[in-house]
Amino acid sequence: MSKQNEKPKKPNKKKQDVIFYTIIISLILVLLVGITIAYFIMQNKQKEDTKTLGYTELIEKIEANQVEKIEMTVGSTSIKVKLVGEEEEKKTIIPNTQAFIEWIHEKRDQGIQIELIEKPESMLVTIPRGLFSILPTLILVILIILIIKMQGLGDNGKVYEPEEGKVKVTFKDVAGLEEEKNELVEIVDFLKRPEKFHEMGAKTPRGILLCGKPGTGKTLIAKAIAGEANVPFISMSGSEFIEMFAGLGASRVRKLFDKARKVSPCIIFIDEIDAIGARRTAASGAETENNQTLNQLLVEMDGFDTDDTIIVLAATNRPEMLDKALLRPGRFDRQIIIAPPDLKGREEILKIHAKDKKLAKDLTFHSIAEDTAGFTGAELANILNEAAILATINKHEAIEKEDLEEAVRKVTVGLEKKSRVISDKDKKLTAYHEAGHAIVSYFLETQTSVKEISIIPRGVAGGYTMYKNDEDKYYVSKTEMEERLVALLGGRAAEKLALNDISTGASNDIQVATKIAKEMITVYGMSDTLGPIWVGVEDNPYELELYGEHIGDQIGAEVKKLIDTAYLKAQTILAENRDKLEEIANVLIQKEKITAEEFEKFFKM
Ligand code: ADP
Ligand code: ZN
Repeated sequence: MSKQNEKPKKPNKKKQDVIFYTIIISLILVLLVGITIAYFIMQNKQKEDTKTLGYTELIEKIEANQVEKIEMTVGSTSIKVKLVGEEEEKKTIIPNTQAFIEWIHEKRDQGIQIELIEKPESMLVTIPRGLFSILPTLILVILIILIIKMQGLGDNGKVYEPEEGKVKVTFKDVAGLEEEKNELVEIVDFLKRPEKFHEMGAKTPRGILLCGKPGTGKTLIAKAIAGEANVPFISMSGSEFIEMFAGLGASRVRKLFDKARKVSPCIIFIDEIDAIGARRTAASGAETENNQTLNQLLVEMDGFDTDDTIIVLAATNRPEMLDKALLRPGRFDRQIIIAPPDLKGREEILKIHAKDKKLAKDLTFHSIAEDTAGFTGAELANILNEAAILATINKHEAIEKEDLEEAVRKVTVGLEKKSRVISDKDKKLTAYHEAGHAIVSYFLETQTSVKEISIIPRGVAGGYTMYKNDEDKYYVSKTEMEERLVALLGGRAAEKLALNDISTGASNDIQVATKIAKEMITVYGMSDTLGPIWVGVEDNPYELELYGEHIGDQIGAEVKKLIDTAYLKAQTILAENRDKLEEIANVLIQKEKITAEEFEKFFKM
C-alpha cells in the first residue's frame, strides 16, 4: 500500500532570522533616505521662498544700523534678516553662528540697535541631524549584529556551534526499535574498540542514513549510540549549513569535520541532511551554494583516514531526494528505516516517558497505546507532558487515566489537522490489503515467504509486507515474474473481496506491476504473440514509432492480459482462503504487526 506522507517542514529559524534582520535594515535605510530627502527639500524651500542677502552686505548693513531684526535657529547657519523699512525678510548664510552671535552682542554694546531672536532647533532639523550624528554608530552596530549572526555566535552559541560532549542517553532510553538497535550495536562496538576492528582488517563503517518522519527518534538513537560507546556527539542540522552568504556552508562543513577529527572517536550527527544533500543541479545562486556544501561533505567523507574513528549518522525523511553520490560506498551506504512505533513500542515509549512523572497507582498504558496508532515517539512524549499539565489543572494528586485520555484527545485534534492519525477505517483497509499480499504470496511457489506484516506506515507506504531476503539471483524466470504480479495485486484483490470496494492505497502496487508486465513484453521478449523482440518503450519511445501503431496496440493488449490473469489468480487464492484473510486481518487490526512465525501458524492449524 502506498500513501504520500505529508512532509512536515521544520521551520528554518536561521533563515527567518536573516530575513528579519534584512527587513529591519531595509526599513532603517528607507527611513534615513526619506528623512534626508525631506531635510534637503526643507532647506531648498527656504532658499527659494526668500531672497538672499550676502554675508558681507549683511555686516555692512548691521554696521550702518540698517538691520531691524535677526532671527536665527540654534545649530543652523541660515538666518532671517529684516532690514529697516522693508516688509520682506531676507536670508543670509553665516559662516559661524557662535562668532556671529558674539559679534552682534559686541555691536549692541557699541550702541547698534538690533533685535536678536534665538529659536530652539525645530524637530524637522533635530531628527535628521541627530540621526546623522548617530548614523556611523548605527551602521556599525548593525554590521556587528550581522557578523555575529553569520558566524553563529548568536543564540548563546547553540545554533552553529556543534552540540558536543559526552551524552547520557543510552539504548535503554530508546523504546521499541529493537531490530534497529541490534543493527547499531556493531557500531557501538566499533567505537569502543576500533583497534580490534582495524587489526582484523575490517573496514571502518562510515555513514549511516536514518530514514523516518520527524519525531520517530532518529536523533535519540544517534545520541544513544554515542552514549553507549561513551564518545562525543557532534551534531548539526542540514538547514543550518544553508546560508544566504556564499561559501559559508562549505566552510562550516569543514569546521565540523575538523572538530570531529580532534575528538575522535566520535559521532557526527547531521539532521535534515536533505537540506544539503538534495540532488545537485546546474542552477545558480543559492543552489550552487548548496552544491558547494554538498561537495565539501563528500570530500570530507572520502578524506577520512583509516584510523579516524568517526561515524557519521544522518537523518532524513526523504531519502529518495538525496543526491546519489551521497549514497555510494564509503559514504552513506547503509540505510536504517526508523518507523513510527507499533502497539508494543508505543506502550514502552509511554512507560519510558512516564518514569519521571507522578502516576496514579493503577495507571496502565495499554489502552492509551491502542488509541494512538500512527503516533511518533515525540508525540507520545508530548501526551505525557500534556497529561501532567492537565493533572495539575484538574487538581489531581497524580496523573490519572482521565488526564491521559484527555491529553490524547488534545494531541489527536492537533494531529488530525495534519491528517497523521490513522483512523480505524484506514486501519481496517490496510489490514485487509496487507493480509492479501501476504496470503497470496504464501501460495505462490516462486515468491519468498513473509517476514513481517504491519499496518503502521513506514516511509511512503501506508503499511507493508516484508519478505525474507532471498539468495542473490542472476536471472528471473517468466513464472517468477508472473507470480510477482499476482503477489503485487493481492492487496487490491483483498480490498475488493473483503470490503467490496477498492482504494487508492493500491496505486503503488499497480504501478510496479504494470511496469514489470511492460518490461516482460518489451524488454525480455516474454510475449507469445510478439515473440522475443526488444522495443524498449521506457527508454526509447522512437523505437515504438519504428514498429508502428500496430505493435503498440499489441503491447498494450499483452500487458493487459498479464495483469488481468494475475489479478484473477490473486482473487482466486484469496477467495479460497477467505477465512484466513478475515483472521489475519483481524489480528493485524488488533496487534498492528504480525511476524513470520505468527503468520505461518494460521496455515498450520
Ligand atoms: P527525530 O530525530 O526522528 O525527529 P527525536 O529523536 O528528536 O526525533 O525524538 C524527539 C523526542 O521524542 C525524543 O527526544 C524522545 O523524547 C521522544 N522519542 C522519540 N522516539 C522515541 C523512542 N523510540 N523511545 C523513547 N522516546 C522517544
Ligand atoms: Zn500494497
